[in-house]
Amino acid sequence: ARPLAGRVALVTGAARGIGEATARVLARDGARVVCLDIPAAGDDLAAVANAIAGEAVQVDLSAADAPERINDLLAARHDGVDIVVHNAGITRDRTLGRMTAEEWDRVIAVNLTAPERVTRALLDEKLLRTGGRVIGVASIAGIAGNRGQTNYAASKAGVIGLVRAWAPLLAGSGITVNAVAPGVIETAMTAAMPAMVREAARRMNSLAQAGLPVDVAETVAWLAAPASGGVTGTVVRVCGQSLVGA
Ligand code: NAD
Repeated sequence: ARPLAGRVALVTGAARGIGEATARVLARDGARVVCLDIPAAGDDLAAVANAIAGEAVQVDLSAADAPERINDLLAARHDGVDIVVHNAGITRDRTLGRMTAEEWDRVIAVNLTAPERVTRALLDEKLLRTGGRVIGVASIAGIAGNRGQTNYAASKAGVIGLVRAWAPLLAGSGITVNAVAPGVIETAMTAAMPAMVREAARRMNSLAQAGLPVDVAETVAWLAAPASGGVTGTVVRVCGQSLVGA
């Protein structure tokens, strides 16, 4: 039997990259996947959802009504959710002293505040089922920092803080809370970096080969599966540095 048969999963940022790969792997493992992304990514999102017999949901996670819309949808169509993967994320990289307040706010809103608000709303309405899984997509930058990524590194360190704070609180409900911390993975996000920056960043990966979205997706799938039921409050590095940070 497939490990996630009968489970409902919500994957944010599922139109491309790591989110798309995660949606595909969770579906392969038997989950019914609700694929969420911004309206501007609607065509790609629909293609992903169609390919895996999932559902496409267009929501901007930074909108004030995002948690309510997600709750309404999960309640009406699925009577709850088992697996939540907070994957959507953005960068607005700027060297120290040049970052605007807007760039700081935007990255914190999407990468850190949205996962907190969405999870809290699901818990408030008791939509996260017993035996559930909350999985944050952090980054090696949230552990080791990264030059020019103050807002991004802070947001990802924040995601790690959420996971560590929530894990003991939700343990009584049989819900595990973990994060993955990818190193450099080949996606549109890293393709947008200048080549020299990307190469320098890639050398920070512990593994010699470039990381692929599926590498992260398979780790998320394990954290989503019954097999990882004894694991909570942890951060699993994927391709990342092994010698930096706690
Ligand atoms: P990506 O830019 O290719 O995909 C991100 C997706 O999130 C996009 O489809 C985008 O439309 C969506 N998104 C952005 N803002 C949103 C919002 N407000 N509401 C809903 N959806 C939104 O990025 P990726 O490389 O696949 O990264 C996915 C996650 O992995 C991010 O959280 C990123 O920070 C993290 N990460 C990536 C790397 C890497 O090297 N690529 C490394 C570490 C961590």
